[in-house]
Amino acid sequence: MHLTHPQQVFKFCPKCGSDHFRSKEDNSLQCDACGFRFYYNAASSVAAIILDEQGRLLLTRRAIDPFKGTLDLPGGFVSVDESSEEALAREIEEELGAEVLEYRYIRSYPNRYEYSGLTVFTNDAAFVCTLRDYTVIKPADDVCEVEWFFLQDVKLEDIGIKSIRTMVRDFIEHL
Ligand SMILES: [Zn+2]
Repeated sequence: MHLTHPQQVFKFCPKCGSDHFRSKEDNSLQCDACGFRFYYNAASSVAAIILDEQGRLLLTRRAIDPFKGTLDLPGGFVSVDESSEEALAREIEEELGAEVLEYRYIRSYPNRYEYSGLTVFTNDAAFVCTLRDYTVIKPADDVCEVEWFFLQDVKLEDIGIKSIRTMVRDFIEHL
């Protein structure tokens, strides 16, 4: 098992501090001292596939780690007590300053990557979106640049996050 896996990283019970915090088989750790059980699950996230009237795909340039400087789709993690649809609208507002007009769910893509010395598990939901106004787009938050690409010009290797790369590849292939 990789050194950054939660079962390797979490050595002490977060409730009582005991070092008898043991890995279980079902994506969890349990404390032998106080009985506390912790499950690590995939975090929900959303990604937006946005085309303009010329059929160009919007890709963002990541301003932050992980994968700083690589291309990405707009989107991010679903917050607690938030729906995926609400997260989609919020992230597009935060990252692009734009309002989602319509959206259509396609499918989801599981992913894992390392952040802060820990393997993070995600489940990334892909939505095709249209925006109310494309002229207002202004990159902000964890996006430093917005670029439009004709689909034949998209270089998949420039997309840093593996699940997003696969998402864009599938979208282009099955369009
Ligand atoms: Zn404990």
